[in-house]
Amino acid sequence: MPSMLDAVVVGAGPNGLTAAVELARRGFSVALFEARDTVGGGARTEELTLPGFRHDPCSAAHPLAVNSPAFRELPLDRYGLEWLHPGIPMAHPFPDGTAAVLSRSVGETAASFGPRDAGAYRRLVEPFLPKWDTLVRDFMSLPLTALPRDPVTLARFGLVGLPPSTWLTRRFRDERARTLFAGLVAHVMAPLNGLATGAVGLVFALAAHARGWPVARGGSQAISDALAAYLKDLGGAVHTDYEVKRLDDLPPARAYVFDTSPTALARIAGFGGHYANYRYGPGVFKIDYALDGPVPWTAPEARAAGTVQIGADSGEIGVALRAASREGRAPDAPFLITVQPGVADPTRAPAGRHVFWAYGHVPNGWTGDLTDAMERQLERYAPGFRDRVLARATAGPPELAARNANYVGGDIATGAVSGLQLLLRPKLSAFPYQTPHPAVFICSSATPPGPGVHGMSGHNAAKAVWRRLRQT
Ligand SMILES: Cc1cc2nc3c(=O)[nH]c(=O)nc-3n(C[C@H](O)[C@H](O)[C@H](O)COP(=O)(O)OP(=O)(O)OC[C@H]3O[C@@H](n4cnc5c(N)ncnc54)[C@H](O)[C@@H]3O)c2cc1C
Repeated sequence: MPSMLDAVVVGAGPNGLTAAVELARRGFSVALFEARDTVGGGARTEELTLPGFRHDPCSAAHPLAVNSPAFRELPLDRYGLEWLHPGIPMAHPFPDGTAAVLSRSVGETAASFGPRDAGAYRRLVEPFLPKWDTLVRDFMSLPLTALPRDPVTLARFGLVGLPPSTWLTRRFRDERARTLFAGLVAHVMAPLNGLATGAVGLVFALAAHARGWPVARGGSQAISDALAAYLKDLGGAVHTDYEVKRLDDLPPARAYVFDTSPTALARIAGFGGHYANYRYGPGVFKIDYALDGPVPWTAPEARAAGTVQIGADSGEIGVALRAASREGRAPDAPFLITVQPGVADPTRAPAGRHVFWAYGHVPNGWTGDLTDAMERQLERYAPGFRDRVLARATAGPPELAARNANYVGGDIATGAVSGLQLLLRPKLSAFPYQTPHPAVFICSSATPPGPGVHGMSGHNAAKAVWRRLRQT
């Protein structure tokens, strides 16, 4: 290791790894320090239940990763990353046994909403699809994008997406499309009537049509392992089992980049109350299952989908989100996001068996057990589900926060995705990756574009770092 490194990165989640790779690619000397014994953060894979069952404890479905401008520029396939696509990216079954789908095809998706809303859906998404690659780059680079590549499309997207999702869904006449969209917004735990939540739903829908919602062959760990292997090939050093508690724990460097929560960064770097106004959102209760067969969904579409959303209608989803985020109680009928990677990837479990995960929203720091409420929901749409369970591993907010310090109180978005904090995080600033110290930067999902495995916060932060390194 040189006596003075160009950059030290703390935290090997997708954003920390991407920041380190981006700097190493540009010839800077980089070392990365991770608290856990393996890299990955929210993109990892572990045998959580029984031997041979490879679970993703955090992310499993990857619409944001496969569409990420940062990842698409990196040779991750050469380091073993392979995307596997389920027949249908996402399905939303209803109590009557039918389902709406988010398919690769706009036509199939529109048809699943019923004749009264098919045209409205086409009119919503079709103008953006030919310009998607430029739009996603402009959108995910905000607010660094002083000069968007396509300002007209970005402005049109802003007009549709900046109002609350409840405004956007007014263009639908029936509940099927409204419910599917409400579920999409709930992926980032945002309130349905919050600012810019229309954009959240729209990004997930456009991502499905553009490149799908794949899983990584072998598990999400493959994403992190590919990034770490590329980093090492570029000369970067990776140190695991190394929790950073103070800046003094780190070797001398010209820049320090933190893939941590703002609260942890303030503590480590001595920034006092700099991020005191940063808000954390609701937590989640997560269950990883080992099953002795596929989930017995009633709706055939759900059996073919990688991701399945569970919520009877947009009203029920809104009630569940409000209970967890505003009323401080666990919902009676939780909205569930579920992923069944085995639909596309046979390597996750012994022959004929499956891994499956589901999570529901609960208040930040909640210490109860949501298993029974979640399984009652699952049984509504997949009768006989409980009979297929071989083993389950549950994790509520305390367990999630213990596994990864970024999930403060079980908030897997590392900060509430509501109000201005959806777009402007961790502070109101045109330079969100900078901190009170000119050599210290933050790159976690507490910065734009926010939660998800896409590496764009790391990419954007690295840009701010290399600009500074070249100046000094
Ligand atoms: C249950 C669950 C399901 C999810 N599902 C999806 C999904 O399907 N698709 C999707 O795109 N996203 C999903 N996410 C969200 C996604 O995982 C995160 O948004 C993403 O991982 C954030 O990346 P990051 O690099 O900012 O932080 P993280 O991935 O959280 O990584 C931060 C890393 O920093 C390390 N660290 C923290 N503090 C220190 C310290 N002091 N010293 C050293 N190391 C430290 C941590 O150990 C961790 O490895 C899910 C998350 C969870 C928990």
